[in-house]
Amino acid sequence: MFTLRSFLNALACLALVLSSTAIIAPAVDVTPVRVVTGNTVVQDIAVRIGGERIQATCLLQPGIDPHAYQPVPEDVKRLASAQLVIINGLGFEGWFEGLAKEAGYRGVVVRATSGITPLKMADDHDHDHPPAAGDDAASHEALVDDPHAFNSIVHGVRYAENIRDALIAADATGAEGYRSRATAYVAELRKVDAWAKKEIATKLPPASRKLITNHDALQYFAKDYGFTIRAPNTALEDSQPSAQDLAALVTFITREGVKGVFLEVGKNQKVVEQIAQEAGVRIGGELYLDGVGPAGSPAATYIGMFQTNVTTIVGGLQ
Ligand SMILES: [Zn+2]
Repeated sequence: MFTLRSFLNALACLALVLSSTAIIAPAVDVTPVRVVTGNTVVQDIAVRIGGERIQATCLLQPGIDPHAYQPVPEDVKRLASAQLVIINGLGFEGWFEGLAKEAGYRGVVVRATSGITPLKMADDHDHDHPPAAGDDAASHEALVDDPHAFNSIVHGVRYAENIRDALIAADATGAEGYRSRATAYVAELRKVDAWAKKEIATKLPPASRKLITNHDALQYFAKDYGFTIRAPNTALEDSQPSAQDLAALVTFITREGVKGVFLEVGKNQKVVEQIAQEAGVRIGGELYLDGVGPAGSPAATYIGMFQTNVTTIVGGLQ
């Protein structure tokens, strides 16, 4: 029978076990692995999976355009002392190789997109136009890998797995923790994907799933959730498109009955504003397509960024 005395005895035993464990266990003095990351999405995932065993430093701050980034002298120092580097890859951090060379970094560089089959895109403004008769489009358009795989939360799972494996390879003693945190995180990502599917299925009929964003960053997202996308700027640059490109976009919006167009945080907003005005449609909101939002904002994490984007897109197209 359970009595107060047996309870107290049990407590005493527990205290004894705990104190003896404390005495025989070696002092835990883990020096965190110095990890440097190439963008804010990879940084957030690394921190989630690495926990206290890593000290992760991101070369980019939220709101900085990764395509246009110019490394600073401080980055050379950060890289020179890194034990592990994790980048997105697929050309997202086009400046990384030059920086690694300058810093003399010869350690491991892990690409979070490793194993993902990249979608291709034209690195050319003309890709929105159908080729003219007899015109071989491939002959004058260079196809490159689209690096924005993180805008698919399904690919986000692969990012998490690659980052988990990279951390285990760098710090095998922490393997158990990396595995359990990654498993919990992947479960969260899958839940967010299910939520997004439901949000879009219940609130946006297929005919409304047409997205105009500042730059061409949502191919992977569009594939996952059945959207048609158009953008005045290519994925890799943020420049003023031609009058012909803009006219074609306005025609598309009018013809397809698109309800809203989207700005991007940290990017030039004029082009999209001009399109909205000319097409007579509203600005559906601001999206985070190249990285997480500022600390403290709902988009400050990878998951928060994705959820914010889905909510903004669904709201802006309803
Ligand atoms: Zn981008």
